[in-house]
Amino acid sequence: MKWDAWGDPALAKELSADIKGLLAAALGVTGDATPGPAADEVLLRPSRITPDDLKALADAVGEDHVSAADADRLPRAGGKSTPDLLRRRSREPQDAPDAVVLPGGEDEIAAVLALCAERRLAVVPFGGGTSVVGGLDPERGGHGAVVSLDLRRLDRLLDLDETSGEAVLGAGLTGPAAEALLAERGYELGHYPQSFRYATIGGFAATRSSGQDSAGYGRFDEMVRGLRVVTPVGVLDLGRAPASAAGPDLRELFLGSEGTLGVITAVRLRVHPLPAAKAYEAWSLPDFATGTAALRAVEQQGTGPTVIRLSDEAETMVNLAMTEQIGGAPAVTGCLAVTVFEGTEDQVATRHRLTRDALLAVGATSLGEQPARAWEHGRFNAPYLRDSLLGAGALCETLETATDWSRLPQLRAAVTEALTGALPGALVLCHISHVYPTGASLYFTVVAALGEDPLTQWAAAKRAAGDAIVAAGGTITHHHAVGADHRPWMTDEIGDLGVRILRAVKAELDPAGILNPGKLIP
Ligand SMILES: Cc1cc2nc3c(=O)[nH]c(=O)nc-3n(C[C@H](O)[C@H](O)[C@H](O)COP(=O)(O)OP(=O)(O)OC[C@H]3O[C@@H](n4cnc5c(N)ncnc54)[C@H](O)[C@@H]3O)c2cc1C
Repeated sequence: MKWDAWGDPALAKELSADIKGLLAAALGVTGDATPGPAADEVLLRPSRITPDDLKALADAVGEDHVSAADADRLPRAGGKSTPDLLRRRSREPQDAPDAVVLPGGEDEIAAVLALCAERRLAVVPFGGGTSVVGGLDPERGGHGAVVSLDLRRLDRLLDLDETSGEAVLGAGLTGPAAEALLAERGYELGHYPQSFRYATIGGFAATRSSGQDSAGYGRFDEMVRGLRVVTPVGVLDLGRAPASAAGPDLRELFLGSEGTLGVITAVRLRVHPLPAAKAYEAWSLPDFATGTAALRAVEQQGTGPTVIRLSDEAETMVNLAMTEQIGGAPAVTGCLAVTVFEGTEDQVATRHRLTRDALLAVGATSLGEQPARAWEHGRFNAPYLRDSLLGAGALCETLETATDWSRLPQLRAAVTEALTGALPGALVLCHISHVYPTGASLYFTVVAALGEDPLTQWAAAKRAAGDAIVAAGGTITHHHAVGADHRPWMTDEIGDLGVRILRAVKAELDPAGILNPGKLIP
């Protein structure tokens, strides 16, 4: 993973003439942004870790698995939001963890947490480094230094129970590594967020991630059957049975805990046999309101697509311009919807037929399978475009929320108005990609001309959008999690009493307050 951009440098893309034309016409963006520094030119503030602390960490995990070198600190200086990338590309001095520690197992994690509590060192668990909410900001929280606890060595398939359809996966496995291990045995997890290639099993659990196949296989938290968590005061092994009436479900405390309550070391997950058959169909809907009604009809009838998503008119138009860029869909008018079906031959045929019937009944027009296949082919490539846009002088960022079907139109209008109010002239694109019988998520992409001070420019837009989301009754995050960036709205989300409950749990599990300070809990 590049330290100042997304993904694999070999896959970076130049902007096409179509996109450049769109940027010039819509936003007046014609130039290039000032290039950022090379990695060895970045001014990292010096590490504050003492030689004695570094030695204690090396005693816990081995000398080869501890570093205070800038080359190791820089890639863990934060996540991959646009503000993260802007900060990385800055020539001003910037913060980074004071040391990086790579434990090899639970005992080593417990030892690291114990010595960090004793020596007052903050700890930021680090999975794939793809947080887009400031979840990896190297906050010291009043402690002497901050350690990045990189979990990549927890990378094994620990168990596969084929009878129950459950696998236990190490927290540090990336999406592709986990799927490859399962595929060797004929199984699949089916969790495909756009960050799939880099994000980890532990990160998915810690952020309540949702993948593009959520209509078929559910959100990540819905797949979780059990969790092992190392906290500063002991180890928890949660989830004894497929369902239980033994009080509140403590797994829920750690799903979405974002490294503030403990370190997730392994996750027991529902898996399914690799699908034998697959079908694709794309659709054109005359407008977003009709498209939204179509998705609702499909979901409420339970016709069973694995993927169902709807782009609004603006996103459909931009998809068109991006066709060559990321392998997106070809010319479509109105709003593009994509459906994909997986399962046995019979299941796929039935699900496809029922979904077709439901969509045709509410005014959808079939575009055949090609645009849906094209969407799948390019689905992990869009983030590269953000880097090219930034390089061309355009600010590009995303945000997401969710609400009930009945409030979805008002929520979309409120967020769009807030974003265009804060960023006059901005292009605001929206899609629905996660649906439930009672509601759906809205995912916004914003593109604007980069201002003089883009961090302040985006902070104002984010504040306006967050306030609009709360006022319109949406959740401050459907799947990106809270981190530092959504923390100001947590009291609106769960109320004062809810915040007190989280604080009380934190005080019990992390009495020294070393775990991921400044995130999630106000
Ligand atoms: C381009 C792009 C596309 C994205 N698309 C999606 C998407 O489609 N769906 C989606 O849900 N999200 C998406 N995200 C957000 C992000 O990928 C998810 O939040 C992901 O789950 C984070 O996983 P990670 O392993 O990278 O965790 P990290 O970013 O390393 O960490 C995220 C948070 O979890 C904590 N954490 C990580 N591992 C552990 C652990 N083992 N124990 C305890 N705490 C831990 C960290 O301290 C941090 O607070 C996207 C991000 C990017 C940059």
